[in-house]
This record gives sequence, structure tokens and C-alpha cells, in this order.
Amino acid sequence: MPSNSRFARPTLRFMTSALGLLLASAVRAQPVPDVSKVTVKVVPVAAGVYMLEGIGGNIGLSVGKDDAFVIDDQYAPLSDKIKAAVATVTPKPVRFVVNTHWHFDHVGGNEAMAGAGAIIFAHENTRRRMSVEQFIQAFNMKIPPSPTAALPIITFTDTITFYTNDDTVRTFHVANAHTDGDVIIHFRKANVIHMGDTFFNGRYPLIDLSSGGSMAGMIAAANQGLAMSNADTRFIPGHGPLGTRADLVRYRDMLVTVRDRVVKLIAQQKTLKEILDAKPTADLDATWGNGNIKADQFLTIVYQSLTQR
Ligand SMILES: [Zn+2]
Repeated sequence: MPSNSRFARPTLRFMTSALGLLLASAVRAQPVPDVSKVTVKVVPVAAGVYMLEGIGGNIGLSVGKDDAFVIDDQYAPLSDKIKAAVATVTPKPVRFVVNTHWHFDHVGGNEAMAGAGAIIFAHENTRRRMSVEQFIQAFNMKIPPSPTAALPIITFTDTITFYTNDDTVRTFHVANAHTDGDVIIHFRKANVIHMGDTFFNGRYPLIDLSSGGSMAGMIAAANQGLAMSNADTRFIPGHGPLGTRADLVRYRDMLVTVRDRVVKLIAQQKTLKEILDAKPTADLDATWGNGNIKADQFLTIVYQSLTQR
């Protein structure tokens, strides 16, 4: 979901109050960002691999002897700036795009990418959700179906492997984490893992329960990323700065700590309001609560995930 940006802050302020009002307010429409002042920054990650930061989910980029390979493409109005950023590191066109999940801040550039000749891949749940109207409960927001030209044209259910730019790029689904269509992408030779929105580096994450996400799945996804990594692995998070293995360990540990504390309070028959009033993450909030998802909203999502049937 949206990272720090001028339009996202009021959205999330609204969200926090909307949670309290239990969706009493009118359903919101998908935001259209003003990208006029946005620069797309190219961050070197490893030989031939880059992370592109604009607004929205971090983009992964692999370049080399073959055509460019891209993971996620942010917002449609940014497409020209993204293409220009790619062109600063390779003269070759984008051949493949993988979407890590369906959220509009990760797939908005699909139509432009496909129009320029790229083939778009995603988990089948990502295409399914993009094909019909969606409602994100945590944002009280309706998302219209994507145009046909923006839909992934090759889908998979478990894994798919790309052999490109002298690397083996293993792409695999993780069940019910941030959504029900998340994929993690592992560049084996470059030793880089793009975690999609299963990893918010240094901040509380959004878990989109209304898209099939779950707290248990978020922890499992972090553990899967750790299991295939070593001390030198670089991690591209969906949101936040480029990460190390130690960053992902800290994030996983935070998720486990928050889960355990909320589980304990639920076992004591506490209501959500009592849990929020108890401020069980007070010692963590200064470190993790400065992103778009604040402590109360994260606790609400964790509570809902742990109590939903
Ligand atoms: Zn997302």
C-alpha cells in the first residue's frame, strides 16, 4: 500500500479514524497521486540488480545481457519516469514484469509496461482480484477493476522460474500473508530477495485481511525469506529502505512479539478497545510506528486477524 507521500498521509489519517467509526463514513475511491514532483531514485543492490524508489511499492530491476526484468511498477502516472530510470542503467527494453500482489501502488504501471511490449506475470489470485472490483477494509476503499490491458497474461499458483541475465530467478507464492496472492522473488546468483509487501522495512506493515492476508502468514513469509538467505543477502522490501538479513530478523521478531502480546490479551478476554488502551506495543512504537501504519491500526489488524474465523 502507499508509502510516505503527500496524498497518503491524509488517507491514513482518515483510515485511523474510520476504524473507530466502523466504516460509518462513505467508502473512498482509489487515490490518484500527484507525481509532478516525484523523482524515481535508482538504488544499486548487487551486480545487475537495482531497487527503484518513487512512490508506492519498491521496484526491483535486473539488467544484463538479456532484456530488463522488472518487479512491480507503482502508479500509472509514474510510468514515463520509471522507464526513464530503467534507461539510466540499461539500453534494453523491459521484457518481463512480475507483480508481487494486486495492490494499486504495485501494479499501476502494468498497462504502460504491457503497451511497450512487456509480458506481465503474477499469482492467479492477483489477476483474479485485479479483474473485478475490490474493497480494502483497512482503508475503507473501493478499487475498480483494472483495464484488460493491465492484467497479468501469465499466471501461476506455486512457483515460476526465470532464467535471465545470467541468473536464476525463483519466484514463489507465500500463502495468505499481506494478501492471498503474494510472491517472493529470489535472485539466486545476485543473492537478492524481493519480498513484496510481506516486508515493510522498519515500520509496522499493512496486512490486508479483506484480500486474504493474515498475521500468521506474514510471520511465515518472513521466515521463508530468512530460510533461503545468508548474512550477505540483500532484501528489497515492499516499503521502506533496502534491507539486510539483520533488518528482516528484527522485523520478524517484532511481528512475533506483537502477536504473542495480543494473543495473551485475547486469552484474558480483553476487548479490542481494552487492548488498544493497554498500549501493549508502547516500547516498540518509537521504532516501528513512524510509517503509514500507526500502532493502533496495526494492533487492530493483528487483533482482527487473530480472532477471525
Ligand atoms: Zn500491498
